[in-house]
Amino acid sequence: MTAVLDLVLRSCRLPSGAELVDVAIAGGRIVAVGPASGPARETIDVAGRLVTPGLVEAHIHLDKALLADRVDGSAETAAEAIRLTGLAKRAFTVDDIDARARRVLDLAVGAGTTAMRAHVEVDPIVGLAGMEAMLRLRREYAPAVDLQLCAFAQEGILQAPGTEALLRRALAMGADLVGGCPYNDTDARRHVEIVFALASEFGVDADFHVDFSDEPEHLHVREIVRQTVRTGWQGRVAMGHLTELAALPPAEQAAVIAELAAAGIGVISLPLTDLYLMGRRDERNVRRGLTPIRRLLAAGVPVALASNNIRNPFTPVGTADLTHLTFVSAVAAHMGTPELLRDLVAAVTTHPARILNLRDYGCATGCRADLVVWECERVEEIVTALPPRRLVVKAGRVTIEHERRTVERWRSGESSGSRGG
Ligand SMILES: [Zn+2]
Repeated sequence: MTAVLDLVLRSCRLPSGAELVDVAIAGGRIVAVGPASGPARETIDVAGRLVTPGLVEAHIHLDKALLADRVDGSAETAAEAIRLTGLAKRAFTVDDIDARARRVLDLAVGAGTTAMRAHVEVDPIVGLAGMEAMLRLRREYAPAVDLQLCAFAQEGILQAPGTEALLRRALAMGADLVGGCPYNDTDARRHVEIVFALASEFGVDADFHVDFSDEPEHLHVREIVRQTVRTGWQGRVAMGHLTELAALPPAEQAAVIAELAAAGIGVISLPLTDLYLMGRRDERNVRRGLTPIRRLLAAGVPVALASNNIRNPFTPVGTADLTHLTFVSAVAAHMGTPELLRDLVAAVTTHPARILNLRDYGCATGCRADLVVWECERVEEIVTALPPRRLVVKAGRVTIEHERRTVERWRSGESSGSRGG
């Protein structure tokens, strides 16, 4: 007797194929992709719509999101954004962090994000309040999104005494990985060393905010590559921003990119923050300040596009919908051919899945059934047209259903409200 399936999505258009297929799901996994499937508890005909794996948010700050009611977007540098947010952070409580973070999580889940890495600030200002709030939310949101928590030293480690012990406590509490910010500390090399020592001690991945300037004035990327190789942490390290790389002459850029590829390091571009905060000293020909996405991809480095901040001094805008980042980057990073548009979709799906070391990610048999059904047919349209999402599936269950209703009253001549009869 055939086992009963949990869910069958009929007539799916997968990114890889022209043929419409049925996707059969049981036990939270895709168990068959093809024309035939057995009896199912729920069957949904998606009528030829595009189906992709769930979106993956590689880098977001839920704990300091949505601060527009208490601090404005007047920062002109990253240092000023850190200072303004640090002032606001003094008033953060567990409940306040929870309330703002869940609003962003709801936006992300509704947009089709099924996995996410959140940086949680751990320092003498906020202590472990962020960890406490985020651990609670990680449990509550588990049916909708896999949340990785990165214990993150935004205020530095050496210049903020007590932080190293707090990071260790955060990892013991259940943080999934550890994050550093060497440009905001007194000794960058030592800062990176401490992060790798913690990663090694707890057996977790490491993620750095790095080289976030217009000019190549830090290039801590090289130190991180060295320590990645020395620790044997290839494939377990990611870097966000890396905007300074774009300022290097092409030959030097190529050398650093080759080192990144060899060390299996993933790069996370944060286009809304980087476009907003870079180039502020340029009075003419204002530079874009993005890491060289195309060159990194061409060298085989996984590149993710991520939200970073949602409406705070680092980034005054934000919807937690990763498609918006692909839309902006198509223009800002000169990626408009069909192939490059598909690369941008990979930068919010397969590349971040690799950077987050998600297991069994994809649309093939055996993969975890984390899927998005789009109101479009072609993959490139995700970038070019920002299509609504019809359904989101997490671990084999439908988590989000979007119904659309538009009444074009102007066509029927009934747009003016009450009319005499
Ligand atoms: Zn960040």
